[in-house]
Amino acid sequence: MLKSVVVVGGGTSGWMTASYLTAAFGDRIKVTLVESARVGAIGVGEATFSTVRHFFEYLGLEEKDWMPKCNATYKLAIRFENWREEGHHFYHPFERQRVVDGFTLPDWWLRNPSSDRFDRDCFLVGTLCDSLKSPRHLDGTLFEGGLGERSMYRTTLTEQSTQFPYAYHFDATLVANFLRDYAVARGVRHVLDDVVDVALDDRGWISHVVTKEQGDLTGDLFIDCTGFRSLLLGKALEEPFESYQSSLPNDSAVALRVPLDMERKGLRPCTTATAQEAGWIWTIPLFDRIGTGYVYASEYSTPEQAEKRLREFVGPAAEDLEANHIKMRIGRSRRHWVNNCVAIGLSSGFVEPLESTGIFFIQHAIEQLVKHFPDARWDEGLRDSYNSLVNRCMDGVREFLVLHYYAAKRTDNQYWLDTKKRALPDGLAERLERWQTRLPDGESVYPHYHGFEAYSYVCMLLGLGGIELKPSAALGLLDPSSAQHEFKLVAEQASELERTLPTQYEYFAQFH
Ligand code: FAD
Repeated sequence: MLKSVVVVGGGTSGWMTASYLTAAFGDRIKVTLVESARVGAIGVGEATFSTVRHFFEYLGLEEKDWMPKCNATYKLAIRFENWREEGHHFYHPFERQRVVDGFTLPDWWLRNPSSDRFDRDCFLVGTLCDSLKSPRHLDGTLFEGGLGERSMYRTTLTEQSTQFPYAYHFDATLVANFLRDYAVARGVRHVLDDVVDVALDDRGWISHVVTKEQGDLTGDLFIDCTGFRSLLLGKALEEPFESYQSSLPNDSAVALRVPLDMERKGLRPCTTATAQEAGWIWTIPLFDRIGTGYVYASEYSTPEQAEKRLREFVGPAAEDLEANHIKMRIGRSRRHWVNNCVAIGLSSGFVEPLESTGIFFIQHAIEQLVKHFPDARWDEGLRDSYNSLVNRCMDGVREFLVLHYYAAKRTDNQYWLDTKKRALPDGLAERLERWQTRLPDGESVYPHYHGFEAYSYVCMLLGLGGIELKPSAALGLLDPSSAQHEFKLVAEQASELERTLPTQYEYFAQFH
């Protein structure tokens, strides 16, 4: 059996990995985490997927244990602003589609739109976001009674069968600190030092890492969580990197942490992605501030232009704040597990944070590592299986993100015009053709697990507005009365929730 794991890097990926391994294996595996005091973590990465709750559940943590300590808030959707045209917005909610007479509500909506807001007509979450509502009542009950509360039973991403209606926003630094304390309290050895060398044996496997002041750290398995530097997998093992840049050109970001009076401003329960001249700006509301940043393509904007635009967007609150400029490596390693080294987090791959997938990739990788955990035989089949799952997951997300740009109606400058001209990843062109006559379903989206279901594709196509979609002809022959009833029900339920739910600020104020 393997006895020891060395995690190099103490950002979100390092501490998520160390805490999860401890929660999974207890003291049967010795975990050491080494992080540099000199090289900071990237410090962004504050919006998540609804599935991240499985991670916290696996660790045995309830929301009350960690959310107030990390200034966390709820995220019910992503709000896309100006992707179709200036002034337009729509939501990509964490909410599955209702089905009437074998057709989804968006199918019925496309046949006969009752307003120009598919997101409010077909889903509840659009209304809750517009009115800044919490998904929980003040007594803690969830707005969707049918889902109910679930006890902790350690599910993982690929086993989940319900769409939980929200994810979280949190302060990345506070979450890393919280997980560090969790992991150290459960026996993870924490070494604060620089790794200055990675020593390989004659087979090319890592024998130890050399630290500046505290000698060599030996282990059986090494996890590379060193961020974009990819010190172990990329540098020492020289695993090639496959860039996604040709289809996703945004390679830079500038970020600000903006303290704001959220009581006055209001806590919008979603991430906002506002389209810009050379990319888009994220706005992530935390309990005490917003996290914001401009993701852009350096081919179309200089860092100075991007920072100026971000400051204008934020307004006076941005004065005197220091901007964090980040160069992003977009794409993935050819393999993520090579010999006795597994890269997790930015060291393994990254796509721009448009759908908040960075932490999702980390969670997926950790869960799969536990499922594929090797023994002394180092079965090659395990490594191959792990690598292909992780590759497919990232390639699927790449495809979904390319769709955002290709299907956006906006074509008002060269940046947006060029988004329609780039070569599409394999399979997407064919799928797009199919979706024009039949909205995406489980059979027609990217076929491997990548975190997104058909309803996400449907929302993006209906919201972005750049692709002509034809309603299903069969709907003209069906009696629409049940669908009409369901639309009415959505509207009634939405206005009842709007009337009875507290605002998100009111909900969280009780814990602070
Ligand atoms: P890092 O945070 O870079 O950590 C690297 C660690 O390695 C540090 O602890 C450092 O000290 C250590 N290290 C480096 N060199 C050495 C050395 N020589 N010796 C010892 N230690 C060393 N994800 C989301 O899910 N949602 C989002 O909204 C989101 N937004 C993002 C926005 C931007 C602009 C970017 C770039 C990323 C975003 N991400 C997002 C991704 C997310 O930030 C990362 O996935 C997450 O923070 C994990 O980073 P990491 O731990 O892999 O790397």
